[in-house]
Amino acid sequence: MTDNALMSARGLKHIWYPCTQMKDHETLPLVPIKSGKGVWLEDFEGNQYIDAVSSWWVNLFGHANPSINEAIKQQLGQLEHVILSGFTHEPVIQLAEQLVEITPKGLTKCFFADNGSSAVEVALKMSFHYFLNIGQIKKTKFVTLDNAYHGETLGALAVSGVELYKKTYGPLLLEPLRVPSPDCYTRGDDSWEAHSRKMFKHMEATITDNHEEICAVILEPLVQCAGSMRMYHPIYLTLLRQLCDEYNVHLIADEVAVGFGRTGTLFACEQADITPDYLCLSKGITGGYLPLSVVLTTDTIYQGFYDNYASLKAFLHSHSYTGNPLACAAALATLSLFKSDNTIEKNKHLSQLMYNSVAELVDHPNVAEIRQTGMILAIEMVANKSTRQPFAWQERRGRKVFEHGLKNKALLRPLGNVVYMMPPYIITPEEIQHLGKVAIEGIDLAVQNS
Ligand SMILES: *Cc1c(COP(=O)(O)O)cnc(C)c1O
Repeated sequence: MTDNALMSARGLKHIWYPCTQMKDHETLPLVPIKSGKGVWLEDFEGNQYIDAVSSWWVNLFGHANPSINEAIKQQLGQLEHVILSGFTHEPVIQLAEQLVEITPKGLTKCFFADNGSSAVEVALKMSFHYFLNIGQIKKTKFVTLDNAYHGETLGALAVSGVELYKKTYGPLLLEPLRVPSPDCYTRGDDSWEAHSRKMFKHMEATITDNHEEICAVILEPLVQCAGSMRMYHPIYLTLLRQLCDEYNVHLIADEVAVGFGRTGTLFACEQADITPDYLCLSKGITGGYLPLSVVLTTDTIYQGFYDNYASLKAFLHSHSYTGNPLACAAALATLSLFKSDNTIEKNKHLSQLMYNSVAELVDHPNVAEIRQTGMILAIEMVANKSTRQPFAWQERRGRKVFEHGLKNKALLRPLGNVVYMMPPYIITPEEIQHLGKVAIEGIDLAVQNS
């Protein structure tokens, strides 16, 4: 057996992999990764792959980034972990100070957790609990968008809308009020803005009819990433903020995936010039190094819990690794890279290059559209361009693109029939060019016999 095959066999013996039908690995080998540097991953036989999906959207400044490595090493010599209840430490203090500084105005309190789903759970519980604490006991419901994704734990799954992940567990889940997504794929001849405005009518109706029972609306600002990178216009967020204010409903912005520059601004909410009541951050926060998440909220909400102990109004929620110092050190190094590298500005050019690299697919008979928001670019493969008839999911065309990528130095892992790039920000123009070429070839192969 080759080195890769050996490692792959061992890797299948005792590990049950996430988000995987394990039987698939009878025909599709695992890719064992030995090392990473920059955008490149390397397997046990020296084959290299450009990490076009940022290792599930977490990596921002490349693998083995020298300054993040150094920050973690420094912190390791100082303090690896400490309980964050009754105790605190410098990295978490500094990180909270900087997060308050860089996030939308009015978010002044940081509640830390250790992954994206937990951050969503925190925001949901906090919103319900806030209204309970101030005596609004009828508020027990959440509003969520079709095609949303907020994580896999039961609470987060309940407010998600991607049926593939959710349907099976239906009987276990609390039931939110569902609203059609402003997703602009279905806009027809309308502009993104016109379509997003039109779709807002559904949200308006749901909130005006049910506001007395609604704690919060939760949504992913601008891009529904796990929902096949479907995108919408910032006007939807602007209108939603106004509506929530009018009806005393909280707005939870789940920027777990889109935060930290993915949409072209540091946070997606900036593009609508809004401040949510809760901002959930994770994934890129540590540059893709260590698990960490945080929910930022307002002083108003914080004050709703602030009382004598005996009032039992405290938010009694915690996770073991909350605010881990090594993760906070990685996050601080990541934030300082945004400044020293002038990342947001530089990404404008890279995002243009990303589009250029696949622009010729606009006329492809099996590409319905190429859509892009900042550093997220997605290509929707369809069976029929004019009717937008999708390929049957059973045909698994995306998997063919994936396999073609692996043979050609690219880790492109499609979502169903949607091929996308969401690369680390240190990617070079040549590497983008290469990804574009592999994506085009992969799509040409994948749509054969259609
Ligand atoms: C990934 C993701 C989550 C869940 O984060 P985990 O760290 O995987 O639990 C929540 N919301 C959004 C928008 C995500 O993309």
